[in-house]
Amino acid sequence: MENLNYDVLVVGAGPAGSTAARYAAMNGAKVLMIEKRQEIGSPVRCGEGIAKPWLERLGIEPDPRWIANEIDGARIISPSGYALEVDESRAGDESGYVIYRDLFDKALAKMAAKEGVDIMLKTAALGVLKDGEQVVGVKARHMGEEFEIHAKIVIGADGFESQIGRWAGMNTVVKPKDIDSAFQYTLVGVDIDPRFNEFYTGSIAPGGYIWIFPKGDDVANVGIGVLLSKIKEPGTAKRLLDEFIAARPNLAKGRSVQDVSGAVSVSLPLDKTVIPGLMLVGDAARMIDAITGGGIYNGCIAGKIAGEVAARAVKENNLSEDFLMEYDRRWRDRMEDRLYRNWMVKEKFATLSDDDIDRIIKAISEVDMEKMTMVDILRAVESKIPGLVKDFMGMF
Ligand SMILES: Cc1cc2nc3c(=O)[nH]c(=O)nc-3n(C[C@H](O)[C@H](O)[C@H](O)COP(=O)(O)OP(=O)(O)OC[C@H]3O[C@@H](n4cnc5c(N)ncnc54)[C@H](O)[C@@H]3O)c2cc1C
Repeated sequence: MENLNYDVLVVGAGPAGSTAARYAAMNGAKVLMIEKRQEIGSPVRCGEGIAKPWLERLGIEPDPRWIANEIDGARIISPSGYALEVDESRAGDESGYVIYRDLFDKALAKMAAKEGVDIMLKTAALGVLKDGEQVVGVKARHMGEEFEIHAKIVIGADGFESQIGRWAGMNTVVKPKDIDSAFQYTLVGVDIDPRFNEFYTGSIAPGGYIWIFPKGDDVANVGIGVLLSKIKEPGTAKRLLDEFIAARPNLAKGRSVQDVSGAVSVSLPLDKTVIPGLMLVGDAARMIDAITGGGIYNGCIAGKIAGEVAARAVKENNLSEDFLMEYDRRWRDRMEDRLYRNWMVKEKFATLSDDDIDRIIKAISEVDMEKMTMVDILRAVESKIPGLVKDFMGMF
């Protein structure tokens, strides 16, 4: 394998990487995207829920080939069974479509390929190449052979376990209180409401929730995310999920055709996502919504910005950190406030007792939410039960 030369190298072919690669190529750059797995999108580590409105912004046509189910909204269920129903427009980053995530990731990679992006599978980055402070490429391995890939700009889209940033000297450490341990099944033959994504909260999933995302009338992605800092033993997430399923005959009668464990960062985004020659996007930059654990949307939006800025940096032959900071500024303008707010909500939510969660969900479900902002809703709850949601009010 000879050493390779590109304008832009994207490491990782998840949603953020494919989108960054696509937009860099659309804007004139010669782009290579490498992916260590042998197949893009597989295995699926995802609840497979996405919201709808952002797809259009990225020119992604909803396609029945990767849409399993269109849903009306979300149902948030308290420990004692109070249910809060919200329509899709209020239901966060994970409610709108339930997708076949492997096919969705492949579709995004195809869009990149159509713009001229070269893609190499089974190709892992092993370290970054530097010229002084400037990142100038990566050392990579493909089918046992090691070689160098030189690029004017490297985009690290290597996900939760991102090493690109760390290799380049950035601080990418996540604290256990900001990591969700996750486990999920695809259950076939279940009896569920196909119109709603359901989120079960409280001590059944400490610091997180159990989800049931319907992929059809009798198929669902059923999973759990629990804060690592709240559990003592490995295997807890799976045990809690198994207990939840076993206690519900409508789920227990299902059979699993896929079970996967994973981890999600529910942290604040990185303080800095750019150094000379390198940008981090998506999970690698910790852009996941800390309440829902949804990260596809944010990763794709940031990927678009990174691709555009990378292509311009190449065109103007300015690979400096100052120039690339345009990416950092633009993605923060788009989503940083929301990421911070939701992280604070997650921190507060993790301290609530089952009784508090019951009271909050019951009180909100009794408010007529139509045309009300979140602040109005919280005000209405606060006026009914003083003190209950006071701490949340300043966050919105
Ligand atoms: C259990 C679970 C459930 C989730 N549910 C949802 C959901 O319902 N909705 C939602 O919006 N989000 C969900 N998320 C989060 C979502 O999956 C991520 O936010 C999203 O995948 C981020 O995309 P990304 O491109 O940044 O990273 P990834 O999708 O993780 O892609 C990174 C890619 O980089 C590759 N890679 C890593 N290291 C290297 C290397 N050294 N060399 C080459 N390639 C490398 C990986 O193989 C991977 O393909 C969930 C996450 C988990 C774990």
